[in-house]
Amino acid sequence: MSTTTDKCTDCDDKTIISTPSAVIMKLPSSAAASSTSLPQLSPPPSSPPSSLLLPFDAHNHVQLGPTPVIVNELRQSLCGMAVMSTHPRDFHPVLDLAAEASSTFSSSLEDNFRVVPCLGIHPWFLHELLDDQWEMVETTTTTTSTATSNQNNSNNNNDHGDDDDDVDLTTTKRPRWVVAMETLLLQHPNAVVGEIGLDKFHFDPVTKDLTSSMERQIDAFRYQLQLATQHHRPVSMHCVRAMGPVMDTIQEVYQTNNHKLPPKLYFHAFGGKAATATQIIKTLEKLFQKNNNNNNSKNKNNNSANNNIYFGFAPVINNLESAKTYEVIRAVGLDRLVLETDHEDVQYVPSSMAMGVSNIAKTLGVTPQQLICTTNANVRDLYSNSNL
Ligand SMILES: [Zn+2]
Repeated sequence: MSTTTDKCTDCDDKTIISTPSAVIMKLPSSAAASSTSLPQLSPPPSSPPSSLLLPFDAHNHVQLGPTPVIVNELRQSLCGMAVMSTHPRDFHPVLDLAAEASSTFSSSLEDNFRVVPCLGIHPWFLHELLDDQWEMVETTTTTTSTATSNQNNSNNNNDHGDDDDDVDLTTTKRPRWVVAMETLLLQHPNAVVGEIGLDKFHFDPVTKDLTSSMERQIDAFRYQLQLATQHHRPVSMHCVRAMGPVMDTIQEVYQTNNHKLPPKLYFHAFGGKAATATQIIKTLEKLFQKNNNNNNSKNKNNNSANNNIYFGFAPVINNLESAKTYEVIRAVGLDRLVLETDHEDVQYVPSSMAMGVSNIAKTLGVTPQQLICTTNANVRDLYSNSNL
């Protein structure tokens, strides 16, 4: 078994040792020394070694798979995951999984297994919403102030001139499912919005039509982007052959929400070309800059901390060995990248993640440990409302 050592700037003084199956991070000697003066406690038998530096799966659907999710097994190969809903029936299983993981909580990402709960309706499952879920009900829209959010936004274009503690209340009519989703988002400040988006390639096998019309998909996407904007939640997005309508809807939400957007936008399993990725970054970061939502001008060369747009590539969706994926990953760059599997069956998550780490590290010309270290920092920024 070969091993290599390296330094990770994000992890400061922690030395990393990689093996074919795992990346092991040794604690600095001062920490090791101080631990010997403390009473020796035996860890629970199923706890992972506290020294593991493991990747974070930024997008999966393990609540849907046939294999039961055993947190104490997963934490041998991941430091955490963001579990994406596809339909309201997933909301409580996903929130329950996050609650279970948080019961073994300590102080840093590498020492814990974290689950970020994600609430949203996937375009493939939109047609399964019952008609009464689309009934328009009059509600009071609550816009969470930036001060009560964990985001680092600095929205200065608030036309209402509110103080930070104020909450904007507007009476409006919205579909019943949107109101229910908003209620859960307010109850769970660590939840993000996902998986949502548009798909022009998911057809009903009998009618050969899209399972949900593009008009209906755009309606749902717009409502969910608005919720994410109003409550400062990151968004994990699905887009298949619909980049034009996705970008148009994002820009429409920007125009109709006082030039505001969700704090972070993540294009998961990105299947577009390198030039498209570059254009997305240019167009959307310009909107964020206009609204003074980031500090990119302060330090353009710094890593993830000030990005608003992220991308992921999943081995199960993207061919990580193709020339096209190679080009697009390099166009996106390490600082806008997060790792993901997009798997439903949890038993395939560890091997899929290992394959992704190996291929993407090779593509970017970095070591697996550098990739994990930077993408973990990126995921902390992407899901900063979850306090990873
Ligand atoms: Zn997905």
